[in-house]
Amino acid sequence: MSTSDSIKQNEQGGLKMTENTNGSQDEKFVPTCHICGEKHWPHHMLIPCFNKHKAKAKAKAEKREKAESKRKAKAEAKARMRAEARDKAETEAKVKAERKAYVDTLAEVEQSLRAETKARANAEETVRAEREAKLKAEEKTKAYMETAARAEEKQKPKLSPEMMQRPKPGHTARH
Ligand SMILES: [Zn+2]
Repeated sequence: MSTSDSIKQNEQGGLKMTENTNGSQDEKFVPTCHICGEKHWPHHMLIPCFNKHKAKAKAKAEKREKAESKRKAKAEAKARMRAEARDKAETEAKVKAERKAYVDTLAEVEQSLRAETKARANAEETVRAEREAKLKAEEKTKAYMETAARAEEKQKPKLSPEMMQRPKPGHTARH
């Protein structure tokens, strides 16, 4: 690397640097006005922005527009909410009615089932009671017959042929 080469490079680099900084500062940089929000240099110490009134009016209009759109959105949301609430209430009422009908039907079915079960139980009870009564009657008859047979058996030897043939006193008195 020779001495002249390095000097040349330095000069080129330096030239490039000044070109860049000068260019960006002169052409691009403009401060943003804090009054109107546009990019411009302050016009005067006392009147830094000519757009002051314009900017105020614009801000006012924007504010009004914003408030209006906000109000509109709010009204729309309210209407939508009211519609949703109405739909919900309708759906709930429908569901409630359906549920009530279902419960009523279920209750009816249950009641008829209960009545049927009761009737069946009653019928079964009647059959059972009848069977029991019949059994009891049969037992009674059997016991009675047994007693009668036993009594006959006991009486037989005691009765003498004489007593059997003799008529009763009352019987003869009437004739
Ligand atoms: Zn301005």
